[in-house]
Amino acid sequence: MVANSLIELDRDHLIHSVTSWSDHERRGVTVLQSGQGVYLTDIEGRTLLDAFSGLWCVNVGYGRQSIVDVAAEQMGRLPYATGYFSFGSEPAIRLAARLAELAPGDLNHVFFTLGGSDAIDSAIRFIRYHSNVTGRPEKKHLIALDKGYHGSSSTGAGVTGLANFHRDFDLPFAFQHHIPAPYPYRSEHQVDDAAIITASVRSLHDKVAEIGADKVAAFFCEPIQGSAGVIVPPRGWLKAMREACTELGILMVADEVITGFGRTGPLFGCEHEGVVPDLMTMAKGLTAGYSPMGAVMMTDGFYEAMRDGTKAGLPIGHGLTYSAHPVSAAVGLEVLRLYTEEGIVANGQKVGALFERRLATLADHPLVGDIRSRGMLAGVELVTSKALKTKPAPSLGLSEHLSQAGYRNGLIFRAFADGIVGFAPPLCCTEDEIELIVGRFRKTLDDVMDIKEIRDAVE
Ligand code: PLP
Repeated sequence: MVANSLIELDRDHLIHSVTSWSDHERRGVTVLQSGQGVYLTDIEGRTLLDAFSGLWCVNVGYGRQSIVDVAAEQMGRLPYATGYFSFGSEPAIRLAARLAELAPGDLNHVFFTLGGSDAIDSAIRFIRYHSNVTGRPEKKHLIALDKGYHGSSSTGAGVTGLANFHRDFDLPFAFQHHIPAPYPYRSEHQVDDAAIITASVRSLHDKVAEIGADKVAAFFCEPIQGSAGVIVPPRGWLKAMREACTELGILMVADEVITGFGRTGPLFGCEHEGVVPDLMTMAKGLTAGYSPMGAVMMTDGFYEAMRDGTKAGLPIGHGLTYSAHPVSAAVGLEVLRLYTEEGIVANGQKVGALFERRLATLADHPLVGDIRSRGMLAGVELVTSKALKTKPAPSLGLSEHLSQAGYRNGLIFRAFADGIVGFAPPLCCTEDEIELIVGRFRKTLDDVMDIKEIRDAVE
């Protein structure tokens, strides 16, 4: 069987992202073969509704022929153009200009990367450079949120606030710090939004005071923390943090790798609160996963300070062979056209409201402790005691049971290790597909409750 030989080859040769290598060898790979609309088909011919858009990225759904066509056309005409030596290509220039038009405020300058991790890494390099050339070489410390995810580059993984990315990688570095996440369900302030916001602002002020105001360069955050388990801060939080950064004289970096491109309603998460960060990172939805690409956007002021702080004739030594790749840029332009002119972002806003309402109906399930969502991004936190908000014991293997039961029910979602389930359906979902996602998820929760150890653990 082809499937079996692929499993063997995979086990012997392919290293997978963020997995237990030994567990993966035991379990074996699940090979995906094709996709159409919101559905994936695996090598055994099973069809699955992908309620996670691949990895929060295939926002336009699978099988979009217009994207395939522009990529093929660009590949045939000019598959590669370097951005070094002042060369460039038309799609990259047009994509940069289009992003400048769509991004908030004066985020008018774009450096393209291959994905989110190197967008964060580039942002960190730019920030260090900026501090040096503006005559503040002490200003290098970075602050981010606990559980925040900012990729896995050697420096960016230390800005990430998740233990798995630090353990045995000697991270975070001494210049990287974390403050508590604005996590309403597990906050002592619970439903008091103002108190949660005040606590975050105070934590940032306290951390800056502890490090020294002249030593802190930037605060990094996601408008909604995706990999933390979709932690949705209270409305007004992002704006308050922007104001605190300005007051403290530190840069704000909004990491929109997940929240960008309509995932939470507007094109960018920052738009919910009229926030203009100093730097914005993006990837995933930029090309909807059809081709690798990420970007860092910077304000006029930040760009000009780097430009004017560098002696004419000296290069700013940051670059990537595949920065501004013409095929990815052509894909990005077409994806942006689909979001805006073909109404995909508008559809996401419409069905996102239904998704939110339908997910809320799961609150009566014995395993469901918290449901949080904004637009087409949602998290469901499972507990074994609703009253005590008890996290499921790791020995129950809940996330593995959930993934397997979901798969049997024809549904893909993200089952985080700590009992949180993440959803990020394609923005092109129909109302019927939203109903299917929620229905199949309820059935999955019921199936998991039928497992004796889990049923016994639930109070
Ligand atoms: N930043 C955020 C908010 C992310 O969610 C991710 C990936 O999930 C990254 C950065 C890293 O992006 P990539 O996996 O493309 O390197």
